[in-house]
Amino acid sequence: MWYESPRTVRKVIAGIAVTGCMILLLGMWLNRAPLIVLGFVVLCGGSIFNLLFYRCPYCEKHLGRSNGEYCPYCGSKME
Ligand SMILES: [Zn+2]
Repeated sequence: MWYESPRTVRKVIAGIAVTGCMILLLGMWLNRAPLIVLGFVVLCGGSIFNLLFYRCPYCEKHLGRSNGEYCPYCGSKME
């Protein structure tokens, strides 16, 4: 499996999270249940994306709360 650089993945996840939150807040503001559901789906999608792709490109372990500078498992420096 091919892994994108953790920095890029973090940016994508942050973008998904912000989008999901905005949809969720918009849904609550307009009182539209479908928008609230969509917001949750987007946020869940972001979490799944994180679990699948936020990994060390060298040892393929999930980076968890690592800041993406160095792998906490094998110590590799990220691109
Ligand atoms: Zn590693």
